[in-house]
Amino acid sequence: MQALTFHGKEKIEYESIDDPQIESPDDVILRVILTTVCGSDLHVYHEREKGLDHGTAMGHEFIGEIVETGKAVRSFEKGDRVMCPFTTNCGECFYCRIGLTCRCVRGQLFGWIQDGNGLHGGQAELVRIPMADSTLMRIPEGISDEEALFLCDIFPTGYFCADMAGIEPSGTYAVLGCGPVGLMAAVGAIAHGAKNLYSIDRVPYRLELAAAFGATPIDLSRSDPAEVIREATDGRGADAVFEVVGSEEAARLAFVLVRPGGVISTVGVHSKESYSFSLGEGYDRNITFRIGRCPARHYMERLIPLVQKKTYDITSIVSHRMPMSEGVHAYRIFDKKQDKASKILLEP
Ligand code: NAD
Ligand code: ZN
Repeated sequence: MQALTFHGKEKIEYESIDDPQIESPDDVILRVILTTVCGSDLHVYHEREKGLDHGTAMGHEFIGEIVETGKAVRSFEKGDRVMCPFTTNCGECFYCRIGLTCRCVRGQLFGWIQDGNGLHGGQAELVRIPMADSTLMRIPEGISDEEALFLCDIFPTGYFCADMAGIEPSGTYAVLGCGPVGLMAAVGAIAHGAKNLYSIDRVPYRLELAAAFGATPIDLSRSDPAEVIREATDGRGADAVFEVVGSEEAARLAFVLVRPGGVISTVGVHSKESYSFSLGEGYDRNITFRIGRCPARHYMERLIPLVQKKTYDITSIVSHRMPMSEGVHAYRIFDKKQDKASKILLEP
């Protein structure tokens, strides 16, 4: 089969690799219908996240059709159209039962093979899905393929970021980053009732997308967000800041913008071992710091009714749809923010 594979820093190849096989009775094989590039793939692409084996199929956001089922699979059959969260989960362990499916004791991340162990990703024609009964969900009525794809990661992650922030309608909130996940975090904040919401970035076309959802855009390269937010809050700062970038610079800015007693809610992926603010600084401002991977399978289920209502046109951020054979180009323009790239859909 054809796949987009990792071959070192800024090197993605479109090449042929072995078809996946059923390895365990609870596996299914999926034929991918639609996949996409995520900001998390860019951390791998730039080798900020290290350790991925060369030749690993990239990607963790995909929907597809089941083409083969293992003997123990009960809930799905050949021909079912399904969406897949970006990690697998058993549905039974302590973490799955409390809704923290991303920390399932048997869970694995798609598109991550290290020292020969792990799972190929969904930027491929076929993918093997372990623990299929508890990992996959059928695409429900009233949900388009694009919306289903957004439910695999970015909409749950944005919504989760807003959940961690503890939104009150009277509060003032700032989202750092207007990439696909930051835009979904803005939607998540609005869905939680936020009225005073600022979205911050330095890419004008992405700021426009945030404004279309109802956020007030702040262009970092033109104005100082600290000044704007201080002015809006009698000098206090934001009640919560969402860090949806995954850089030391953004984490520092989150600390600068949050008010004493406020929340920093971080879904940006960090791999550095240093901190952008010290515990002493956190103590002096009574900061609540929340961070982590989104339990996408848990939120996927929770968010289906909201997506079915179509209150928010979440897929309006799709900028491109192209064959997966052009995936190398997709990585380049998504990374460099060329050609107004925001969410790029790939068809295998
Ligand atoms: P992206 O790279 O497309 O978007 C990041 C945006 O941040 C860009 O528009 C960039 O211009 C902007 N930016 C850079 N520095 C900034 C700063 N200092 N202040 C404000 N904005 C700044 O990525 P994405 O797909 O939107 O993903 C965002 C982050 O979320 C990534 O770190 C990704 O790995 C992470 N992520 C986490 C989870 C999770 O489960 N926690 C899931 C998906 C993605
Ligand atoms: Zn993702």
